[in-house]
Amino acid sequence: MEIDWMPRGRCRDMDPALFFPSDGVGVQVAQRICAECPEKVACLEYALANRVDHGVWGGTSERERRRVLRQRRLSRVRASRS
Ligand code: SF4
Repeated sequence: MEIDWMPRGRCRDMDPALFFPSDGVGVQVAQRICAECPEKVACLEYALANRVDHGVWGGTSERERRRVLRQRRLSRVRASRS
């Protein structure tokens, strides 16, 4: 998977620890940064494709990514049955 978007991410000069928060407040701080990142979609798709469990990627928390993956799985199942 391509990673050429990474140097264009808004976080490129920030402390990576910001994106691996230990509580909900930290998640919100990271999400506010991601909200204005031009590479938000690429970042999210990278994390989903690579099953990245930890941290905020593409403006999503770990829980939100699990939800997206579950919804996509369900959509594929439904599509295969129709
Ligand atoms: S979406 Fe967030 S974590 Fe991803 S590249 Fe942009 S700022 Fe960094």
